[in-house]
Amino acid sequence: MAQIRVENLRKSFDQFTAVQGSNFTIDDGTFFAMLGPSGCGKTTTLRMIAGLELPTDGRILLDGEDVTFSRAAARDIAFVFQFFALYPHMNVADNIGFPLKCQGMARREIRGRVAETARLLRIEHLLSKKTSGLSGGDRQRVALGRAMVRRPKAFLMDEPLGALDAEFRHLMCRELRDLHDRIGATTIYVTHDQLEAMSMADRIAIMNGGRVEQIGSPQEVYDRPACLFVADFIGSPPMNFLRFEGSLQPNDEAVSFHGARIAVPAIREPRAAGPLVLGVRPEHIRFSDAAEVRGSVFGAEYLGTTQIVTVDTGYGRVAARLPSSTTVRIGETVGLAFRSERLSLFDAQSGSAIRTAIHEGVGHG
Ligand code: ATP
Repeated sequence: MAQIRVENLRKSFDQFTAVQGSNFTIDDGTFFAMLGPSGCGKTTTLRMIAGLELPTDGRILLDGEDVTFSRAAARDIAFVFQFFALYPHMNVADNIGFPLKCQGMARREIRGRVAETARLLRIEHLLSKKTSGLSGGDRQRVALGRAMVRRPKAFLMDEPLGALDAEFRHLMCRELRDLHDRIGATTIYVTHDQLEAMSMADRIAIMNGGRVEQIGSPQEVYDRPACLFVADFIGSPPMNFLRFEGSLQPNDEAVSFHGARIAVPAIREPRAAGPLVLGVRPEHIRFSDAAEVRGSVFGAEYLGTTQIVTVDTGYGRVAARLPSSTTVRIGETVGLAFRSERLSLFDAQSGSAIRTAIHEGVGHG
């Protein structure tokens, strides 16, 4: 098992920089997701950690040992690809045991390791079957088995469930996390799907344009996004953003939003006046006749226990998640009350979150 650390990791392809100086440490046994839109540098980062790509700059440390220039085979890390090629002419046991055979391990020992791996993956009943007749999920399990059988220090997975249909992906997510809990190996999991990352990971790195924007637990990145990008990327529907010109002093309990008074969490550091953005999650909005921010109901999307109601205000369209029992009439004028202790504030120019009581866990729950 291993701790993985990257320091100022950078990768350029000619003039284009795909990874712009990443720094993070993944503690031993952590399930770490790298999440971000297509092209943000997730795979390139993973390939550098695996030893399949040489960094332009920076260091990679495995349990404190500098492996930046070590060959992939010397790193004791298993890479699980999306389209993991299994050998169709071999049965499942031979497929799983193949990496050990290549290492020259004795047949008896291979049999033991394959049996142990199959038990962990709960595929003992498949060992004598040909891989060509297996379902997608079983093929994925065999692929995982082939990575696990070497007992690597860490697993690197690049969208391993990307080829599966939605329902099956959900099932495999649960299985992967369960497997991780049983074997406890450090895992880096690359995905562009926030639900996968949020449901499986202990910690998530959110990447954008080659940069790591934030690293935190799923709850941290959801509740306390470090910047507008993260706030917008995590959550469905995403956080609502309301821009205004305002000034704010430490310990102020409200801001003047286009003349309306909105209670906000106290900020922690003095800041100059300038354009601000108020961030409010749909579930932290309710209808209130007394609320000063008002708008006209544009639409309602029924989701079972809740509904997403969109309201056109003079400052943009706002999505609120309300109980589906709330009666909503299209076109009616409503007041929108925000749950003050859960609001985020951002500097409109830099996009960075302004530190508030929320960041120190005050008013959480
Ligand atoms: P995806 O989910 O689409 O795979 P990603 O976040 O994993 O996206 P990367 O595959 O790491 O992104 O690619 C990051 C950027 O680097 C992309 O713009 C890609 O085109 C570019 N890139 C990756 N590999 C190379 C290469 N060998 N030569 C030139 N550009 C590359």
